Amino acid sequence: MAGVNWHERAAALRIDGRMLVDGQRREAASGQGFDCISPIAGRVLGTVARGAQADIDAAVASARTAFDDGRWASQAPAARKRVLQRFAEGVLAAKEELALLETLDMGKPIQWSLAVDVPSTARCLAWYGEAVDKVYGEIAPTAGTALALITREPMGVIGAIVPWNYPMIMAAWKLGPALAAGNSVVLKPSEKSPLTALRLAELALEAGLPPGVFNVVPGFGQEAGEALALHMDVDAIGFTGSTRTGRRMLEYAGRSNLKRVYNELGGKSAYLVFEDCGELERAARTAADSMFFNQGQSCNAPSRVLVHESVADDFVAIASAQAAGWQPADPLDAATTMGAVVDDTQLRTVLGYIAAGSAEGARCATGGRQARAASGGSYVEATVFDGVAPAMKIAREEIFGPVLSVIRFKTEEEAVRLANASPYGLQASVWSDHIHRAHRVARALRAGTVHVNQYDEDDITVPFGGYRQSGNGRDKSLHAFDKVSELKTTWLRINNP
Ligand code: NAD
Repeated sequence: MAGVNWHERAAALRIDGRMLVDGQRREAASGQGFDCISPIAGRVLGTVARGAQADIDAAVASARTAFDDGRWASQAPAARKRVLQRFAEGVLAAKEELALLETLDMGKPIQWSLAVDVPSTARCLAWYGEAVDKVYGEIAPTAGTALALITREPMGVIGAIVPWNYPMIMAAWKLGPALAAGNSVVLKPSEKSPLTALRLAELALEAGLPPGVFNVVPGFGQEAGEALALHMDVDAIGFTGSTRTGRRMLEYAGRSNLKRVYNELGGKSAYLVFEDCGELERAARTAADSMFFNQGQSCNAPSRVLVHESVADDFVAIASAQAAGWQPADPLDAATTMGAVVDDTQLRTVLGYIAAGSAEGARCATGGRQARAASGGSYVEATVFDGVAPAMKIAREEIFGPVLSVIRFKTEEEAVRLANASPYGLQASVWSDHIHRAHRVARALRAGTVHVNQYDEDDITVPFGGYRQSGNGRDKSLHAFDKVSELKTTWLRINNP
């Protein structure tokens, strides 16, 4: 994309913030909207429809009708596959527009929106399309007097509620399996990043997805989100967001129709570096790069780095030097690697954690300040804290910003105990050249994903999700079909002469 002037493109962009329900763009029933503000310079990008109860009712009714009349669910899997493949191709064809919307909306650098968010979204949609005509049912090994068929059926209407850190990718992780399996979907994007979801719904229609099958209602959590999660005609909620809101999703289900709730929640991922790690430099660089990518706003970021005391000084020096390469800059500059955090509230939250770290006695090895304040946007420096104690706030709570905490340990037993002493269990990493230790520790860590001597491998083919308060169920891979389909057993009698 060399030579593209993204500022000019941004100035020329026309924002359509209307919801998409029943195949139509429309305003909220109340006529109300809210400002969509870019964290790049604090500019209002446009007005977005403020969805609420009446809009969710309309979207769920449309999704239900579409499901019940079989316009999508009854199509052959191979036909659904072709639509999802065209949808994925449409996403790639609209690559520059989608990347620009994502960058403007939540502040990530344009180069990552282009290189990561758009292609990952397309690959996810295509992959589930590809998968759906290759997934077979089962015949149970019962006695000869009967035949038991075990088949998967779509659940019906799936409500998807997603966060702002990877708006398109998080939406695609819900949409890919749900649509491939034949469900209808009502998507509620984050009020902080609604723009790409609305455009995705248009691209789905253009690809041939029948109207009503995929609806997008933007709005606030306590209005549109709550109405969707409490709705009596929604069969399941696929939620990604904070553990606090995930708890509410379970309450909403209990107060309404006991809809299934699948939560993908927060994390405080542990990254263990042992004294026998043969690649300390790579370990330190990888920790910094994984932490500061996306301005530290990744649920699986390695925010708790546990380092053996004998190598900790070297580790901190290398990680701090690497952090210096993550300088907040203009997200619309194609060379920028670190952009803005999502909004001013998030900026204040992150700065509050940094202040708490210093107040509790951690040593700020690098960063620690707001950046680019004159831009009017929300920027914070890549920050490394050394000398962090496990009881400190910055060691326990998810910050969701570019702050890496280094905790020193003496023994393997202590490292594992500290790593597991968290309500979260999303991801972890072990760095050791000792094969027995690497296997031993990987088994002992209570996390949905454990990396050994790396952190960044990722693929749509592998499940993603957490233990404990990081959630339940898994996104990605064939396992995601478990969250959007029901297992049915059909018994047939076989008369024997
Ligand atoms: P959030 O919980 O504040 O919001 C997530 C979504 O829920 C938004 O669409 C929001 O509008 C909606 N919402 C908020 N309150 C609601 C309510 N009372 N009722 C219904 N809906 C409501 O989270 P966030 O700040 O947008 O995202 C950051 C969080 O997401 C972090 O904790 C991060 O770890 C987590 N996350 C997890 C994963 C994962 O796969 N495990 C991936 C990405 C982000």
